[in-house]
Amino acid sequence: MPRPIEALVHADALAHNLGTARRHAPDAKVWAVVKANAYGHGIERAYPGLQAADGFALLDLAEAERVRALGWRGPILLLEGCFEARDLELCSRLNLWHVVHHEAQIDWLATHKTTWPHHVYLKMNSGMNRLGFTPSAFRNAWQRLSGLTQVDEITLMTHLSDADADPASKRGIAHQIETFEAATHDLAGERSLSNSAATLRYAPDRAGVRGDWVRPGIMLYGSSPDFPQHSIAQWDLQPTMTLRSRLIGTQQLQAGDSVGYGSSFTADQPMRIGIVACGYADGYPRHAGTGTPVLVNGVRTRTVGRVSMDMLAVDLTPVREAALGSEVTLWGRGPHGAQLPIDEVAQAAGTIGYELMCAVAPRVPIHAA
Ligand SMILES: *Cc1c(COP(=O)(O)O)cnc(C)c1O
Repeated sequence: MPRPIEALVHADALAHNLGTARRHAPDAKVWAVVKANAYGHGIERAYPGLQAADGFALLDLAEAERVRALGWRGPILLLEGCFEARDLELCSRLNLWHVVHHEAQIDWLATHKTTWPHHVYLKMNSGMNRLGFTPSAFRNAWQRLSGLTQVDEITLMTHLSDADADPASKRGIAHQIETFEAATHDLAGERSLSNSAATLRYAPDRAGVRGDWVRPGIMLYGSSPDFPQHSIAQWDLQPTMTLRSRLIGTQQLQAGDSVGYGSSFTADQPMRIGIVACGYADGYPRHAGTGTPVLVNGVRTRTVGRVSMDMLAVDLTPVREAALGSEVTLWGRGPHGAQLPIDEVAQAAGTIGYELMCAVAPRVPIHAA
């Protein structure tokens, strides 16, 4: 028997979450962001749940080839655009839309030979200071692109740095939206501004934030972009990935006994613990300390002691019937309808759902559920 750990990808939940994105931006088209191998889910496994999207947005040309190989004939967008001039050949061959965020990408286009003109996304740096043209350089870039025979449509885009911020904080989206609108109000073309956080929080009330295309990523994968302000239940999202394993041992502790490396947990009364076949070499976060939530037979309990490479320990006090082989849900869907949102595990480990789902290790088999 293989080691009992596995990950499951839930197509029905992906489809549900895509529907939630649509409901928040009913008049916009939806890019399903599938970069980073569909946030660790696997593009091929996520695809059946996301087929109702209007397009797929990603970074790697190899990922774009995989989406075309699945039979997708609709739009595909390269979110970082081309990395070198040669990449344009693949864009022409696979009909990829691509972001243009610096001058060299326009130079490459200007010398590119193509039989049909490209659809590009012209990106403004409206304040995040990662990629994009400054507001003052944006118009000139738009004019250069408009003059190229290699370019057909130009969509105007920007990316928001603080769409998930607590409303009580000073940060937010207003300054970026104003910057973007001021610099683009008289330019032709569709607009795209919103990631998951902006789609959920601002798109329903503000047409200027919805634009023509929204770009949800994390919400499709059952993690709340502004947890703990909102949980996935509050946003009507469902877990799309389950990481589960089994108990491969149990121990009876007496008061004063400790658990695992560094003896970081000591029992203050007699208790039973279970040993789970899951450790940091499987992608479970080592920084998740004692008290991280976990389900055993669908019953919520906590981890105890340090996570080691291949194992971790759980408190069996609330799960009397737990025994060797009992099912352990590290995150996602448990038995009997129980759920453990990935966001709660991430919070206990001082990180975010994005990092955990992208970090599931190659040694963990992933199955479509
Ligand atoms: C990753 C990414 C998104 C999706 O962001 P989420 O926070 O996962 O919704 C949207 N737009 C761009 C440009 C991205 O790189």
